[in-house]
Amino acid sequence: MVKFGGTSLATAAQFKKAAAIVREEEARHYVVVSAPGKRNKEDIKVTDLFIKATEEGQFDSMMIKIITRFRSIVRGLGLDFDLDSEIDRIRNTYRDGAGEDYLVSRGEYLAAKIMAAYLGYDFVDAEEMILFDEKGDLQYKETVARIATVMDPHDNAVVPGFYGKDTEGRIRTFSRGGSDITGALVAAAVKGDVYENWTDVSGLLMADPGIVRNPLTVPVITYKELREITARGTEVMHEDAVYPVRKVGIPVNIRNTDKPEEAGTLIVKNADYYPSILKISGISGETGHASIMVEKDRLNADSDIRTKLLQVFAQEEITVNSMLAGVDTLNVLVDEEQVKGRKRELSEKLRTAIDADKVSITDGLATIAIVSRHMAVSPGVSVRILTALAAEQINVKLLDYGVDGISMLIGIEENNFREAIKAIYSEFVKK
Ligand code: ASP
Repeated sequence: MVKFGGTSLATAAQFKKAAAIVREEEARHYVVVSAPGKRNKEDIKVTDLFIKATEEGQFDSMMIKIITRFRSIVRGLGLDFDLDSEIDRIRNTYRDGAGEDYLVSRGEYLAAKIMAAYLGYDFVDAEEMILFDEKGDLQYKETVARIATVMDPHDNAVVPGFYGKDTEGRIRTFSRGGSDITGALVAAAVKGDVYENWTDVSGLLMADPGIVRNPLTVPVITYKELREITARGTEVMHEDAVYPVRKVGIPVNIRNTDKPEEAGTLIVKNADYYPSILKISGISGETGHASIMVEKDRLNADSDIRTKLLQVFAQEEITVNSMLAGVDTLNVLVDEEQVKGRKRELSEKLRTAIDADKVSITDGLATIAIVSRHMAVSPGVSVRILTALAAEQINVKLLDYGVDGISMLIGIEENNFREAIKAIYSEFVKK
């Protein structure tokens, strides 16, 4: 199962690269495509053109842009493809009230039709097999069963990503970036050997390239580790695309269409079979955090007190990112934005709710998450992290050793952020 993202299909030349990848390996049977993406930084994705076309008075001018883009792809591929009839059909169906999701999904539809024609593969429409309920939520089990049945007679096929049909027969889309989910569902349903996700990067980087120069690509990572990394804001693929393949244990391989010679990142259930030279799988971090420290005698022994505190957070609509409990202290990590301009008022509320001895709120914090499946099983990983920071005179203000033993969260002052990431990276990668 092979999926290509929007930048991998942005031009005829990119289509050719993608097709060459498919043809190179006989085992690449099924292809899921996104809509053509940006050709350069200033460009607009085809999906965004369609979204704009749904706005009042924008339809005709946006359609001209969309047609121009697809025409240049069809011409560049030297294909005999009846684009005009397809466009007429889209125009009429939309005018007849097919809905906004229908129009927005047509980038994937056209890309898949063109790719199928170019490869000589069957076109199988996602609307036949990706099933949503009337609220627009995916019907998971039904979808997987249906894909298996529909795909069965096809040896090779191209399927448009991003959309399906609801119980009322209307086209519905996933959230943005949702072609990844289609790919994962097809991979799971056809019991693929691997789900190759071809994009414009060579996989997941060990650290932010804006901080560490030329960081290494993570060679192998587990689904669990990936979850930790994406929860901290590093985007790899759509969050909901992990579940279907993880459930059945199909590995995901993130690859770069422009550098097919690179192995990319392999995401697996169990990494024991892969030699691992590095003891960590990734470092991700964020600035803009605050910690709220509440002190009261026997605070954590009394569950009533803790409940009352959490109620205050709920009432004030403050999301708790992480929570550390001591004997008499509870330290809660939140986004700085949530306490901005209301530190005093919030402290007072928390203090009176439980008659606390002290409440202090510190902002200007950064958090760094180090993800490592070796953390709890290999002695020394956490010590090395802390030693690397100590060597740079960086004070650790807060430390959370993840409950599942595969990550460590560190709170430091924001002005140490970049240095801290560099120090940890050097310790594990450069050494
Ligand atoms: N074309 C859709 C988007 O831009 C879906 C996708 O590319 O996965 O979000």
